Amino acid sequence: MTTLHEEHSAHTHTHGPACGHAEVPHGDHIDYAHDGHLHRAHDGHWDECEPSGHNAHAGHDHRHAEGCGHARVQHGDHVDYLHDGHRHAEHDGHWDDH
Ligand SMILES: [Zn+2]
Ligand SMILES: [Zn+2]
Ligand SMILES: [Zn+2]
Ligand SMILES: [Zn+2]
Ligand SMILES: [Zn+2]
Ligand SMILES: [Zn+2]
Ligand SMILES: [Zn+2]
Repeated sequence: MTTLHEEHSAHTHTHGPACGHAEVPHGDHIDYAHDGHLHRAHDGHWDECEPSGHNAHAGHDHRHAEGCGHARVQHGDHVDYLHDGHRHAEHDGHWDDH
């Protein structure tokens, strides 16, 4: 899966292990939950870690919900669930991997 390159301009805060924002393991990198956005370090600046395209998760039997045991993170207008290093979001009766 590819990720759009959306550079966050005027992002003066530097995320780090103790910066106070929740760390969200995402594939090979870490996102930081920042005011409903997910920011990742990229070449000395911060990108919005936004999915491009639509990746429906096939064979996802588990149903995420509050208390399902997976961490939740607010992402824009929806909630992502952290599932084995992926972010899963409910969409039209299935789960998107993004
Ligand atoms: Zn931070
Ligand atoms: Zn940020
Ligand atoms: Zn990410
Ligand atoms: Zn779950
Ligand atoms: Zn999301
Ligand atoms: Zn999942
Ligand atoms: Zn979907």
